[in-house]
Amino acid sequence: MSLTKIKEKLNHYIDAGFPIIYINTFEEIKADEIIAEIAQSTARGVIEWNASNGQTEWNLNNNGIIKCRCFDEENPLEHTLSMIKEDGELSQKILVIKDAHHFLENPRIISMIKDIGQKILSGLEATFFIVTPILSIPRELEKFITVLEIGSLIDEEIREVILNFVNEYELPQISQNLFEEMVGAFKGLTEYEIKNILALAYSNDGSFTKSDLKLIYEQKQQVIKKSGILEMIPLKEGLDDIGGLDNLRSWLKKKAAVFNNLKEAVEFGVDMPKGVLIAGVPGCGKSLNAKAAAKLFDFPLLRLDMGRLLGKYVGESEANMRKAILLAEEIAPCVLWIDEIEKAFAGIGESGGGAEVTTRLFGNFLTWMQEKNSAAFVVATANDILRLPPELMRKGRFDEIFYVGLPNEEERKKIFEIHIAKRRKSDLLKININELVQKTKGYSGADIEGVVKDSIEAVFASGKSELTTSDLLEVIKNTHSLSEIMKEPLEKMSKEYENRKFKNASF
Ligand code: ADP
Repeated sequence: MSLTKIKEKLNHYIDAGFPIIYINTFEEIKADEIIAEIAQSTARGVIEWNASNGQTEWNLNNNGIIKCRCFDEENPLEHTLSMIKEDGELSQKILVIKDAHHFLENPRIISMIKDIGQKILSGLEATFFIVTPILSIPRELEKFITVLEIGSLIDEEIREVILNFVNEYELPQISQNLFEEMVGAFKGLTEYEIKNILALAYSNDGSFTKSDLKLIYEQKQQVIKKSGILEMIPLKEGLDDIGGLDNLRSWLKKKAAVFNNLKEAVEFGVDMPKGVLIAGVPGCGKSLNAKAAAKLFDFPLLRLDMGRLLGKYVGESEANMRKAILLAEEIAPCVLWIDEIEKAFAGIGESGGGAEVTTRLFGNFLTWMQEKNSAAFVVATANDILRLPPELMRKGRFDEIFYVGLPNEEERKKIFEIHIAKRRKSDLLKININELVQKTKGYSGADIEGVVKDSIEAVFASGKSELTTSDLLEVIKNTHSLSEIMKEPLEKMSKEYENRKFKNASF
């Protein structure tokens, strides 16, 4: 949302007498700017409380906000709240509380905030802002609080920010192509972040060029990483780097035909693809497919880190899930990759605090998948299907579920070729791949890659100049394949996939 829209919305809330406005943001500076404008337009003074300075009062003038400490000694939040409450000091004032999530578990504080909310509802002319990056609202306060998210900008708003920047610094006009690429690259970022990146790109060489796109992506990667839950993965591997799995690959190509002409496809009546669940044997190309899908669709790849999603505050995990989904939708079109999804949703339906959080999270995720209509395409990968909740696999959630098994002969041949060609292309023709294939039954793709890497390293260490079939066979002789190591679980799993009639990724 743009600054102007946020202010409009806030003015509307204040006019309507909403007692407590909860600004959910990491950007305190931006929140301050917004509050300062509201203070000026309503001619109300501002009292702030934060964890490091205690109570301060704001002086607003043309130079911005000057904050003056009211107390020398450390002033606890309780003290500020009780003083304001008793003295009726809050009339015609704006009260801002920061870092509040640390205190919103304290019953006395909750009760004091409730009293103030009640007073504003009964006619006290004051506005109360809570500014914090973590959304956790105690039940008792729910009916007093309205949440304002300072989300990212839509395409039109991003265009405006870039144009304003160009005009303000009297820069040369940006070519139409570059301009639109910049708009795409800035998706998912807030106005503040975009302005910072523009300033950085501009300060490099005084103008915007194609090379600044790289900088924008790097900065965006940082911003997404800092949000803590999503990570933007650089794209390297494409469909040609996958040996076999022809069925899955041609399925992805069909989806690419939709995504590469999304507007026309939607107008034609094609449903927006939702996503795919790829389950099966470890090291056989599931993650590789997630990466190749993003490259094929020409979308950024965002990996959801489920471990980090589970927060320690009440309600934090759900808030994080909401944030991750929101960010993915804002960045969309994108591929949202949920790695080892079975780990994230283990323990669903069981009792106990942790399991309840997981069950709620899972519910949120399913609802989102069911209703999703954005171009945030989900690729969920799973090693252990037995640990996946059945609801996840019902119709309407994923467009398709694929099973990836150990590679067959033809596939092993291709995997050998891919990995040898990547490292020692000149030796490939002289190598007897068929012999390698015969000796590697039960090997996973990752096993085969390991054999190729180890052989090349051994050849180099011994001072020889080329890789030969016998070098590879030597390493194979000393390798334990995945099916040797995991014989029983693999047999059990492949039976299970057959029972469930998942599509085979290979044929
Ligand atoms: P997982 O199925 O556990 O997600 P990955 O996709 O991460 O496995 O595979 C690990 C590595 O093994 C890949 O980076 C790739 O180099 C190699 N590999 C696995 N399967 C294949 C395949 N079908 N074709 C080419 N390389 C593969």
